[in-house]
Amino acid sequence: MLILMHAHASRADIDNVLRHVRDRGYEPIELPGTDRIAIGVLGTHPASIRDAVEGLPGVMDAIPVNKPYKLVGREWHPDHTVVEVSGVRIGGSEFVVAAGPCAVESQEQLLGAARGVRAAGATMLRGGAFKPRTSPYSFRGLGIAGLELLAKARAETGLPVVTEVLTPGDVELVADWADMLQVGTRNAQNFSLLEAVGQLRRPVLLKRGLSNTVEEWLLSAEYVVSQGNHDVVLCERGIRSFDTATRNTLDLSVVPLVKSLSHLPVAIDPSHATGHRQLVPAMARAALAAGADALLIEVHPDPDEALSDGPQSLTLDQFSELMDELRAVAPAVRRTMAAAGAVDLS
Ligand code: PEP
Ligand code: MN
Repeated sequence: MLILMHAHASRADIDNVLRHVRDRGYEPIELPGTDRIAIGVLGTHPASIRDAVEGLPGVMDAIPVNKPYKLVGREWHPDHTVVEVSGVRIGGSEFVVAAGPCAVESQEQLLGAARGVRAAGATMLRGGAFKPRTSPYSFRGLGIAGLELLAKARAETGLPVVTEVLTPGDVELVADWADMLQVGTRNAQNFSLLEAVGQLRRPVLLKRGLSNTVEEWLLSAEYVVSQGNHDVVLCERGIRSFDTATRNTLDLSVVPLVKSLSHLPVAIDPSHATGHRQLVPAMARAALAAGADALLIEVHPDPDEALSDGPQSLTLDQFSELMDELRAVAPAVRRTMAAAGAVDLS
């Protein structure tokens, strides 16, 4: 339920409405807008609230929110959300590219990738220290040593780091090192993990689950936001379909769709979406043209030797070429490419 107050409603009018809502056992949320205040009431059956507040001084309307997600929906929050990750703003007019290896493998590999993507114009560094692998016998990441290397790469390049957290018990540890916490596709409906990242004040990159509907994905985001962490970026990384020609099927239509349903920024991961490096640049350009706010791209200094996801990782030269292409596309869709802050790279 959204209670819309008149623009001229006084503070006493607002407090009076808040009191009426609380008296009925619900916790109201004040939602300041550009010219009037709205008051949100979460809960599945707040119909009685409507009768209680309609007619109170200053109340313009009380309207039910029909969507099952509330806080992440446009109905509650008509303006775009801009998520700030250590100085990089995702969701504004600037287009953000986060790039780096699938997994942190060694200092040489990570620093090589970080320096290369920074030189090409990336504004964030990606890399997994804790890797969710389908087989328990695959390389599952360097763990804490990988987090330390990510921090070292950030110190050297100035690029904020996004890395995955796999379990609720690791959330604080990963947050100690990373600028943004990634919740991967396999954990997109791990509700205790979502609540755990929701309890921190660290931005979250939430992948769409392998077979999640858009509504399920937005409800996963609602888990995070309902814990108080509003800094969520939604990331489409391809969904599972019948076709094995590509690793997954990139659902680019979610960019305009989700941006109409939700105020949260949307990122595209063309690497996991396609699984083939020759398909990545076209999908990356298309994502920017479609209105995405950011890209998450796998780049490896030597993809043939990568310990995970080599076939979908761009070489540094391919990434650099892609960044040139993105710089050409951006003005056509009224975006500018975000630029990394000044850092002494000598
Ligand atoms: C990743 O980005 O490293 C990753 C494992 O992605 P996903 O969860 O989308 O498979
Ligand atoms: Mn990967």
